[in-house]
Amino acid sequence: MEDCIFCKIVKGEIGCYKIYENKTVLAFLDIANKAPGHTLVIPKKHVKDLDECDEKLFQEVMSVAKKLSSHYLQKGFDGVNIVSNCKPASGQEVLHFHVHVIPRKQDDGASLILTPATQKANLEEIAKKLRLED
Ligand code: 5GP
Ligand code: ZN
Repeated sequence: MEDCIFCKIVKGEIGCYKIYENKTVLAFLDIANKAPGHTLVIPKKHVKDLDECDEKLFQEVMSVAKKLSSHYLQKGFDGVNIVSNCKPASGQEVLHFHVHVIPRKQDDGASLILTPATQKANLEEIAKKLRLED
């Protein structure tokens, strides 16, 4: 897609610090570097978000995310966060599907914690509304 920054990275029009690639997936360092090693895993093909990503491509992206997580743990990190924002309301800024792989150290001070709701939730009501049947 012409104006997509991640498509430009795939095409080599914008540089990146590549960590891994295969035929369909590219992984590179996030410019924001929210923790050292913060990595983005993306399909090389333009797909807007998680919801538009087909099952097969999703599995290919997640398989690389898992491979990198194990790799980072072997490199000496203590943990890994896997995050994907879907649509702007969730915080998605780049509209080309991507998964954040964030390697963590025990006391690195980074935080991904969502603020807890202030009101007591009626979990039974929420579950009734959201339950998915096969
Ligand atoms: P989102 O908020 O959409 O889940 O995450 C988008 C991420 O892309 C952000 O963490 C941001 O730092 C990163 N990003 C945006 N532009 C570039 C870029 O040109 N190069 C790299 N490496 N990362 C980028
Ligand atoms: Zn794109």
